[in-house]
Amino acid sequence: MSANIETRLRGPGAYALAREVLETMEGHQVWPTPVNFELWTHFVAEPDSDLGREITRLISVGEAFTDHLADELAAAYLPKAKLTEQIRDAGDALSKELISVSRAIESAQKSSEAYGQTLASASGALIAGPEPQELKAMVDTLASATKRVQRENKSLEKRLAESTTEVARLREHLEQVRRDATTDGLTQLANRKAFDEELERACVEADSDGHSLALAVIDIDHFKNFNDTWGHQTGDQVIRYVASVIGRVGAPPRFAARYGGEEFALIFPRESAETATLVLEEIREEVSSRILKRRSTNDDLGAVTVSAGLAQMRRGESAHSLMERSDAALYASKRSGRNLVTNAEAVADAA
Ligand code: GH3
Ligand code: MG
Ligand code: MG
Repeated sequence: MSANIETRLRGPGAYALAREVLETMEGHQVWPTPVNFELWTHFVAEPDSDLGREITRLISVGEAFTDHLADELAAAYLPKAKLTEQIRDAGDALSKELISVSRAIESAQKSSEAYGQTLASASGALIAGPEPQELKAMVDTLASATKRVQRENKSLEKRLAESTTEVARLREHLEQVRRDATTDGLTQLANRKAFDEELERACVEADSDGHSLALAVIDIDHFKNFNDTWGHQTGDQVIRYVASVIGRVGAPPRFAARYGGEEFALIFPRESAETATLVLEEIREEVSSRILKRRSTNDDLGAVTVSAGLAQMRRGESAHSLMERSDAALYASKRSGRNLVTNAEAVADAA
């Protein structure tokens, strides 16, 4: 939740807010699950936030607030707040660490300066030609100053070693947060956000290097029927299965992502529509050739099929336009009977 809402839920009026959230949920026939409570707290407390506005829109079109919808909203709107918080915490820890290390370095610098002064004054005294008594006192002073500096160095070394470990731990944590933020939880493919960024980047790169680039969108056929017949959990298993087939050919430098519910996208950098078509045909055939079993009951689920559309980037074309043409090609596959791969060029020729 946003810091503001977190504060309000721990301050005066907290219970009044919580009650209002519950009443609003009841009024909209929404189950009081923890996820729903979080979503609807945003709606009540911050109706003008992105999430607040999206819920307002969904209410206005009469959308049913199913668990599935709640999960989608949570995935789209909630992790960002958590993520910002985690990044801020890691950032705070990192800057504390840096401050403490720079203090340790400063103090080591001071003591080595003092050591330098001790040496300089000793060498001045030596030039003056000291008596043996004085010489002994001088050597004693130098010996103890040297010991002090050695001690300081040891403790600085230890402090730096600790700090290196701590910084490595923080970096690992940030890396994990970054991975979570760009990965789809169900399939472990890249998520929509990561895909959007990657496509943008790949288009700019292809344009400046003059390389080709192909983009495919893949959608499971009649998935709603499948879900309605076998239930959402089994539906999720199928999404994972299709994702695993796509992910296998979508290894770098290709880029595979779960674009939305039962829809995937594949970026083919430096590849033509022709080679992309071959890969998509492979995916299509592999998916349709496997008879799926329901894990819990071992029921035969039959096979599922996928449809795909692809387009090769035109010179100077935007990511958005490339995506639109791939989508149009996917739609053509659906219209022509599904379990098909369509190249956007064919759609353009037909039009
Ligand atoms: P088409 O062949 O035209 O693609 O038909 P379809 O039924 O696959 O397409 P439609 O867009 O009508 O329905 C997609 C369904 O996918 C609706 C939704 O219930 C389901 N779905 C979306 N995301 C998920 C998910 O994460 N898990 C499960 N189990 N189902 C999902
Ligand atoms: Mg579908
Ligand atoms: Mg779809």
